[in-house]
Amino acid sequence: MRILLVEDDKDLSRLLKKALSEAGYVVDCALDGEEGHFLGDTEPYDAAILDLGLPKLDGISVLEKWRKAGRAMPVLILTARDRWSDKVAGIDAGADDYLAKPFHTEELLARLRALMRRAAGLASSAIEIGPLQIDTRTSRVTVAGHPVKLTSLEYRLLAYLAHHKGRVVSRTELVEHLYDQDFDRDSNTIEVFVGRLRKKLEANLIQTVRGLGYTLDVPPPESEA
Ligand code: CA
Repeated sequence: MRILLVEDDKDLSRLLKKALSEAGYVVDCALDGEEGHFLGDTEPYDAAILDLGLPKLDGISVLEKWRKAGRAMPVLILTARDRWSDKVAGIDAGADDYLAKPFHTEELLARLRALMRRAAGLASSAIEIGPLQIDTRTSRVTVAGHPVKLTSLEYRLLAYLAHHKGRVVSRTELVEHLYDQDFDRDSNTIEVFVGRLRKKLEANLIQTVRGLGYTLDVPPPESEA
């Protein structure tokens, strides 16, 4: 899952980027409203964290422009403590949730997980697909009760497919959501990672849809030979 972080406080931005990366997300950072608006307008994100007090373009304007342009990713706004009017303005402008500064990183991560879960229509932080179980809080994966050890990229790949269960996800889409903007992207490597992931999961969960991409779903009752 790929996150956009728009925050002008450099220390906070660095701290959050580190925490988000450790939690298994890829993160693009923008330090002002103009850059943040541009990235959110042109790159695909699974969620955005948006500070309201920003240089060049304030957070509310950024959010309004995104929504006007039809950008629908979940947005969590960061507001100054006790500024209830900011929260109201933010929610009216299209924010999905807010967090008042200062906050605990754990709370930010929990709210973010909840936002992406809701966007994917999932009710709980544990995703179950046939024998596969993914605990999005701990990034623990089991198949038929057996733990599966995944690299962070394999986990990101699996989590993205699981959040879009039953839908065909193209290689390009995967590349866009698994790597940050600075990464030298090559959609051929995706095939390699899908292959490895398949081998580790064993169960026939990831299907290739020829020419279109991949889909993760409950395996068919009888696999064709
Ligand atoms: Ca600020």
